Amino acid sequence: MPELPEVETIRQGLSRRVIRKRIKQVSVRKKKIVRGSATAFEKVLRGNSFAQVGRHGKLLILPLTKGDKVLLIHLKMTGQLIYRQKKDVIAGGHQWPPVDPMELPNKYSHVIMDFTDGSQLFFNDLRQFGFMELADQKRLHVVLDHMGIDPIKEKLTLEKLQALFKKRSTSIKAVLLNQQLIAGIGNIYADEICFMAHVKPTRPVQSLSLKELKSIQSSISRVLERAISYGGTTFRNYLNTEGGKGNYTEKLFVYGRGGKICKRCKKGTITKIRLAGRGTHFCPACQY
Ligand SMILES: [Zn+2]
Repeated sequence: MPELPEVETIRQGLSRRVIRKRIKQVSVRKKKIVRGSATAFEKVLRGNSFAQVGRHGKLLILPLTKGDKVLLIHLKMTGQLIYRQKKDVIAGGHQWPPVDPMELPNKYSHVIMDFTDGSQLFFNDLRQFGFMELADQKRLHVVLDHMGIDPIKEKLTLEKLQALFKKRSTSIKAVLLNQQLIAGIGNIYADEICFMAHVKPTRPVQSLSLKELKSIQSSISRVLERAISYGGTTFRNYLNTEGGKGNYTEKLFVYGRGGKICKRCKKGTITKIRLAGRGTHFCPACQY
């Protein structure tokens, strides 16, 4: 699943290309991808354009220039967004099945948006968990109320973090993955943040010292900002917005490195365990 850095990379790529571009038509080929009426969805978008491309956590938020609605896009597990204008292609999301941008639409292209300049935006989804939704302001606020702080848009201070962690009895990793507390961190970056902070992901959150909490706090923005600067991971399922592979995977310290020597202490062997149903990686020698 693409996480905050991957979705932010898509956001940046799209915002350079689709803002104020007139939508000629929208074709919903698989109704379940669109929440609400597909006919109304097509009608509202036709002739409209996007005022901006925003994001909260893993959710893309595109306000329309006409009317008060916003387009919400969530890629979930296997969604892909591919924008194509002749040879200018940007693609983001799940890497499987691989997409040949020149061979679109394919059988997984469930929503197709045509702009008047000939460019197109495809929403592909193998397993169809992703969605698109036209939301009014009231609905947008309901959606955002259920999401935690976006740690890139808003400064996650130590005080805010302590308030979020209060009364939580689970592991630090489970807390980092809880989208209602902090929005946008998934399995890859939760492991990387714990590593950066020298904290084992299994640690109960209440057992963390003030020093460790501070370390988690600074690691959250450090890890995410570093990943964004590299365009996110390509790892297993990600194509970056310039249509090629991002280059962050080789920069990861623990995720996907089970059995290998720790890059930091050069002593420990990265250990992979199951935690809260997720593959979890840490260095037993330099995470405590
Ligand atoms: Zn180590």
